[in-house]
Amino acid sequence: MLKDITEAMLGRRPFDLVIRNVQIVNVFSASIVSGSIGIVNGHIAGVFGPEEALDSRRSIDGGNAYALHGSVDSQMHLESSMLTPEHFAQVALSCGTTTVCADPHEIANVLGIEGVRGLADACRSLPLRVLLTAPSTIPSAPGLEDSGFDVGPAEMEALLDIPGVAGLGEVMDFNAVAAGDERMLSVIEAAANHGVFLDGHVSALTGRRLQTFRAMGIDSDHTVPSAEKLREELALGFTVQVQECMLNREIVQAMNDAPVQDRICLVTDDVPLPRLMRQGHLNFVVERAIELGLDPIRAIRYATIHDYLVNVKVPDVAEYEKSLYEYLDNDAAGAAVMDTIRTTGNLDKDTEEQLKTVLTRYTESFVKAH
Ligand SMILES: [Zn+2]
Repeated sequence: MLKDITEAMLGRRPFDLVIRNVQIVNVFSASIVSGSIGIVNGHIAGVFGPEEALDSRRSIDGGNAYALHGSVDSQMHLESSMLTPEHFAQVALSCGTTTVCADPHEIANVLGIEGVRGLADACRSLPLRVLLTAPSTIPSAPGLEDSGFDVGPAEMEALLDIPGVAGLGEVMDFNAVAAGDERMLSVIEAAANHGVFLDGHVSALTGRRLQTFRAMGIDSDHTVPSAEKLREELALGFTVQVQECMLNREIVQAMNDAPVQDRICLVTDDVPLPRLMRQGHLNFVVERAIELGLDPIRAIRYATIHDYLVNVKVPDVAEYEKSLYEYLDNDAAGAAVMDTIRTTGNLDKDTEEQLKTVLTRYTESFVKAH
């Protein structure tokens, strides 16, 4: 695999695919450059200037459209979509989301470890990359609810051993943590000993209590209600995950001005099915943030680069991407849409709808075949 990439880069073998004539959105340099993308074994081997001659087995004219990374949603719950993982994947992929970090705390409240194991099994062969977290706060308000399961340190160990579980799910009982509750701390400690990332939920804490939460090793928060809280959490080294319902002009201004940019993400958290179908997925949060004045490249960056998840090992989705281009060329509707994009050079509303339909059908057939 690595050898194929170097061979293509050295010009000793053709690229599997070259997408020419695209505006590549580079989220590392915060710039947009015209050029081509060379792909080998489903991986981007390199990007090249428009004049560079590239040998390729297949080539697609991108019609000067923007080429973006797939979106990464680092805080969400599959259950709130009311869809099975397979059907959720169809919708999310058609909206450009290629990775989600899902906390299965609803299913864990009902079915415990078996529920999380079942969900992990259902996610394993999807074309969508799913990282699961081990639900930390089950039940979320001990003594006040009749949940079907309790998570203590032993259950946490068992959850983290499930293949596909990559981190600790949002620690919601922030008052218990800040008050030094032993059970909650032993759950966090069990996860920290596994070396995984620790997700938080700390809406009400500020000052010394917020610092205590951070000192417990919690890496992130997605319940930031104000620009001031965003600044406070960034200053403490939290990764701040901003969801759509928190977006306003003030927060967006604070995001534009933040001195540290690599610890801000846009996330969806809970998107019920009607909103998912009407508005879309993380793409909607990105659009909304831009509407409110967020720098567009920043918005895309917040939905794509995640240092936070950098050490997480996940199964490859190369195969999905690889056969997508074949599908687009060979399927009559797909070829017609690609042809319209190539000849008109832009993606109008009708073409976009047609493309969505084709992508949904491709994803359906991919899921069926795997
Ligand atoms: Zn959440």
